[in-house]
Amino acid sequence: MSRQESRDVIVIGAGASGLAAAGALHAAGRDVLVLEARDRVGGRLLSLPTAHPERALDLGATWFWDGEERVRTLAARGGIATFAQHLAGDTMLQETTGLRRLTGNLIDAPSRRLAAGAQSIAAALAAELPARALRLDTPVTAIRPDGQGGLDVLTPSGTLHAEHVVLAVPPALALERIDFGDALPADLVRLARATPVWMGAVAKVVARYPAAFWREDGLAGAAFSRTGPLQEIHDMSGPGAEPAALFGFAHARTVRPGFEHAVTTQLARLFGPAAATPTALHVQDWSGERWTAPSTVQHLADYSLFGHRLYQRPALHGRLHWASTETATEYAGHIEGALAAGERAAQTLLAVPADANDTALGVTTPSR
Ligand SMILES: Cc1cc2nc3c(=O)[nH]c(=O)nc-3n(C[C@H](O)[C@H](O)[C@H](O)COP(=O)(O)OP(=O)(O)OC[C@H]3O[C@@H](n4cnc5c(N)ncnc54)[C@H](O)[C@@H]3O)c2cc1C
Repeated sequence: MSRQESRDVIVIGAGASGLAAAGALHAAGRDVLVLEARDRVGGRLLSLPTAHPERALDLGATWFWDGEERVRTLAARGGIATFAQHLAGDTMLQETTGLRRLTGNLIDAPSRRLAAGAQSIAAALAAELPARALRLDTPVTAIRPDGQGGLDVLTPSGTLHAEHVVLAVPPALALERIDFGDALPADLVRLARATPVWMGAVAKVVARYPAAFWREDGLAGAAFSRTGPLQEIHDMSGPGAEPAALFGFAHARTVRPGFEHAVTTQLARLFGPAAATPTALHVQDWSGERWTAPSTVQHLADYSLFGHRLYQRPALHGRLHWASTETATEYAGHIEGALAAGERAAQTLLAVPADANDTALGVTTPSR
């Protein structure tokens, strides 16, 4: 890769947001390149294949809800089968004083799932791009104004050039992993460093079983616990209970030696002895993921910063466009928000005349 490689737009991050932005830009005729640090697309969409070719277990995002039309439309366009989250049955409540069985499912709202796993959304978006528009294993390490209105994008394998960059990475992570020199205004740096990474401090645990035995006992597979290690638990089975699975969320800081034993002990208390011996137990600690979580992730808690107005307009003289679900003004945190933010970044960029010069372009430091 050499400095001579130049594109209209470089998108950083091949999660749902970056891929949505790239798709819209490609459709509008822009020469776009997505640089992705990992060896896969999807980011926080991560689906574990099963023996069944069209069923996977989600270690990242799981559900989408009514009104999330971008996800629904994308699934339909990609021919991805969806199904309703299992709801029927009673809820278990685990308190320090003991267990209670509550009538009905008091935890799960009606939602839909993607049979092939949520990562199939990212795969469908990537499949709509030409091969030259996506490069995996390419972390961006620095961004520098080139002095002529464009941006240099540095990676370990070389420097690229673009007229515009879409930063489809959680803002706090971007500020930690990408060196902007002193190019960004101080208020934007403060904002980005303080913006939480949605689910970035969470461990998701998936326990797989030969059958959804809890349903035969009239349980929904839903539980709420004040003792942990899992704080809430849901039925994660596929369509027709194949594969059969439960999943739960834990604070990442509780993932220590002995964690897995504590989880299976808890599951057995809640759902009976059969829950003690899953055929597989997957622990996905998102706080340990270099390309999801900054080192500060456990301390970022001001969710009112999601969709902040500074993210809605480009920085670096109109050349750096924010995406990622954290920057969305609607459905922030969700897949839907990631897609919306990517689309917004693409629309803002496309509204700039291709030959616009620096001085004609936007303001970088509006007051809040
Ligand atoms: C455990 C868990 C459960 C969730 N459950 C749900 C749910 O049920 N429903 C729902 O709607 N949402 C859920 N979410 C949230 C959902 O996954 C996210 O909103 C969405 O996937 C975010 O997409 P994104 O593109 O904004 O960011 P990401 O998916 O984080 O994508 C960012 C991409 O940028 C890459 N990257 C990072 N740094 C660099 C760099 N320097 N250079 C190049 N590439 C870089 C990353 O590798 C990644 O691929 C969940 C998330 C988690 C973790």
